[in-house]
Amino acid sequence: MPAGRVRVLYVGGLGRSGSTLMERLVGQLPGVCAVGELVHLWERGVVADERCGCGESFGRCPFWLQVGKAAFGGWDEVDVSRVAALRARVDRNRFIPALARGHLRPQTRELLAEYTSCYARLYAAVAEVSGCDLVVDSSKHASLGFCLRWQPDIDLRVLHLVRDPRAVAYSWSRQVLRPDTDRPSYMTRYSPATAAMQWDIQNAAFGLLARTGCPLMRLRYEDFTSEPERSLRRVAGFAGLPAQDSYPFLTAAGGAPVSAWLDGGHSVSGNPMRFTTGQVPISRDEKWRTHLPEAQQRVVTALTWPLMAGYGYLGAAS
Ligand SMILES: [Zn+2]
Repeated sequence: MPAGRVRVLYVGGLGRSGSTLMERLVGQLPGVCAVGELVHLWERGVVADERCGCGESFGRCPFWLQVGKAAFGGWDEVDVSRVAALRARVDRNRFIPALARGHLRPQTRELLAEYTSCYARLYAAVAEVSGCDLVVDSSKHASLGFCLRWQPDIDLRVLHLVRDPRAVAYSWSRQVLRPDTDRPSYMTRYSPATAAMQWDIQNAAFGLLARTGCPLMRLRYEDFTSEPERSLRRVAGFAGLPAQDSYPFLTAAGGAPVSAWLDGGHSVSGNPMRFTTGQVPISRDEKWRTHLPEAQQRVVTALTWPLMAGYGYLGAAS
């Protein structure tokens, strides 16, 4: 392994699949620093100065000030418009087939190297400032996973989270306030059909990423909520973390952990639950069964059934 190679657990999948909770649980383990959705750091952190998970604005958070200095000599030195331009040239769903084959034109290869080196420097700085061996990035987008897979300074491991698309579609249909800024704003909403198509694209893409040889572990949100401790043990092993006898932050009831104690952190962007600390329930959340109209449930199933079947969501137990 080249010197300075940084180990990263990249949490992938379509949003609303439990990635924030999973990221924060892994972040409770010793030697792990979970930093939220770094794909949004440039615009929402550096430019818009949105809130860090610790409650401070990005520009005033001591952790991110140190990371910016270690990675780039300070955030003022970062050309965010250049990062955005690079992203538009390499980090898009439409480039996934070419990224999967690895057959890139020399010029594209150079742009990809420049783009992913921004992330490599960022991850290395997070590891250095936090003193942790593993950085967890829950950016989720498959296209960024495909990009990072080619960066030699990153030891990338992908945790692909999958959740029943009917639950995901219900979640995307709801209006959710974003506590990330002082200005009232809401999280993006999708119609059930759009959410279903996004679910197909992202999940199929992660299946393809696994076939390129990238280390990838798939975990169903439903299995994780049924057996949090066992799931966390699997994830920790996959991420190369030492085995632990127990996870004291998981609280058992009747033998099965049903909640977790979460400490604060410095997540840079993500689901509003990134701000929640203390005791947090681990539950499957089945509201979609009664709150998502049956006609819409059928639309989602019709658009996603091949993958749903592959993941075991169409059987009697689903
Ligand atoms: Zn912070």
